[in-house]
Amino acid sequence: MNSQKNRKGTKPVNIGHNLIIGDCQPVAIQSMCTTKTSDWKSTVEQIKQVEQENCDVMRVAIPDLKSAKALDTIKKHVRIPIVADIHFDYNLAIKSFEYGADKIRINPGNIGGEDRFIEVLKAAKKLNKAIRIGINSGSMENELLEKYGYPSPEAMVESAQNAIKIAEAHDFTNIVVSLKSTEVEDAIKAYRLFSEQSDYPLHVGMTEAGTLIPGIAKNAIGIGTLLQDGIGDTIRVSMTTDPVEQVIAAKEILKALHLYGKEPIIISCPTCARTEINVKDLAEKVREKTRHIRKPVKITVLGCAVNGPGEAKEADYGIAGGRKKGVLYRKGEIHKVLPEDQLLDELVRLIEEDNA
Ligand code: SF4
Repeated sequence: MNSQKNRKGTKPVNIGHNLIIGDCQPVAIQSMCTTKTSDWKSTVEQIKQVEQENCDVMRVAIPDLKSAKALDTIKKHVRIPIVADIHFDYNLAIKSFEYGADKIRINPGNIGGEDRFIEVLKAAKKLNKAIRIGINSGSMENELLEKYGYPSPEAMVESAQNAIKIAEAHDFTNIVVSLKSTEVEDAIKAYRLFSEQSDYPLHVGMTEAGTLIPGIAKNAIGIGTLLQDGIGDTIRVSMTTDPVEQVIAAKEILKALHLYGKEPIIISCPTCARTEINVKDLAEKVREKTRHIRKPVKITVLGCAVNGPGEAKEADYGIAGGRKKGVLYRKGEIHKVLPEDQLLDELVRLIEEDNA
């Protein structure tokens, strides 16, 4: 099933000069720098790494004025929009806009009250910027915690709606919303509930999801379930890893739901006693050597003749392993039988020829 078909049409929100989030635009991939933002050289280097992986938006933390000032230099060296992550200090939000942030992420639960939030809204409006209202189960307003007893999905949605009401009263609507929880089920409920009530675009992510494998599992369940519902305009796979790995994981979640059209989809088998070629090595090399193909062509790499021919017939290109050799398929037909060490080059040549 193509999840694009049931995507919810949300309001378009402009981020920088050439990115629109919402309005059924392609789901934008985000990540966040792990460098000190004040160290602009390392930050630029990390942003360039994720740009190489086709990340659409990058967030940086702004814990102090030095970091806000660094935005000015960082912006001059990178291509993708930059989001400033703000907690506690509304002045840093305003300064971040002034030094070039395209959007800020702000948590109304910890910015110090309505008056301060309004000052941030005024600055965003004046400078034509965007704001993400980032609700997080770990830092919610005390009144809502008292009312609901814990940071429940309903409490998170109410917190977002309260902030939106204030923004709308000040004629500001360039808003994206996130409702993050470490509990995947609560996050899913919160996003679904908000989506029923509102047309603002949603930044979907599971917060603090853990290291690589648990992180991918939690995010794939949470983000994948919501995307399958048609919910989600931009995603961030939050986990304790390098940002590049977060971007690759985000792309794979989107690819699995046919929501990413800018890279091949590689299918490879887990291997077993029947495996006759080095599937792992070959599949990794196929990914590496076909990344420049900007189309969602489906490529299968399977280790033997059990499922290989059947899978290859369903794909655009495929390899089914034999003893130190392999059958290369193209559009469901056998193209050639080649020694193992020639399969990769011929596969890449074919794909490039067909997709030039
Ligand atoms: Fe084993 Fe063949 Fe299945 Fe790969 S495709 S796991 S080699 S049976």
